[in-house]
Amino acid sequence: MIHTEGIYKRYIPGVIPPKDRSDEDTFFVFYADKLLVKLADGKAMIPVVKDIKDLGLTCHHEQYLGIFESSHCYVAEALSEAKLQGDFYFKDLRSLFGHLDEDIFILAGKAIQILAWNQTHQFCGKCGSKTVTKEGERAKICPQCGFFTYPRISPAIITAVIRDGKILLAHSKNFKSNMYSVIAGFVEPGETLEECVKREVMEEVGIRVKNIKYFGSEPWPFPNSLMVGFTSEYESGEISVDGIEIDDARWYGIENLPEIPTRISISRKLIDCFIETQRK
Ligand SMILES: [Zn+2]
Repeated sequence: MIHTEGIYKRYIPGVIPPKDRSDEDTFFVFYADKLLVKLADGKAMIPVVKDIKDLGLTCHHEQYLGIFESSHCYVAEALSEAKLQGDFYFKDLRSLFGHLDEDIFILAGKAIQILAWNQTHQFCGKCGSKTVTKEGERAKICPQCGFFTYPRISPAIITAVIRDGKILLAHSKNFKSNMYSVIAGFVEPGETLEECVKREVMEEVGIRVKNIKYFGSEPWPFPNSLMVGFTSEYESGEISVDGIEIDDARWYGIENLPEIPTRISISRKLIDCFIETQRK
């Protein structure tokens, strides 16, 4: 069952900006990882070029993102937090979930990753020379040695493990609350996604899994992951938590689920899919 065929409904990616800029073009501005938004009635909106001019904000590291509805979109970093007037605020991106239009929230996640990549790849990682942006591509090239870099994405797996109508949920030491979730971890160089699923589940909770099936994927911009979701079945072993990342893990039936992730994340979609299957 694949749950994430497409995430954008109204956005067309692009790397070549138009010749002219309109005052109504959309402008994502970050300052220290916070996004500039206009707040009104519990809703957050992304400013347009005119707003940036009116606020007197000076920005750098600008990148073109493409078209949202009929508006060209850009991202840049503000040089200082400046004195904001009206209903404009710099807000932590995560805190804006549910307040921004969903397409815009996902696009803001892309925007912050492109911005961070642009900032951290000003110099060649091989010879240290100043890089230049490659025309027509989201890439940087070193004029001295020809080394190319592209925006970095770190794939991570996330898996629901099922055993006799129960799901394996774990509490991570990093969770601030008493929340339990499915197992996740970063893919290592030289392994397949399926091997990563097996390794992560074994390392974190000591369980061997089989019958690994693709479920869906989700970009996760905190900081630059792509979460690749799978379902899997218990094969053998007894739960033994690693004590480093995971401090507790148990099998849960739908009648006694613990606190689970609330936001519309792929972890929640995996757990919801398990609940649906059990109710049938
Ligand atoms: Zn170089």
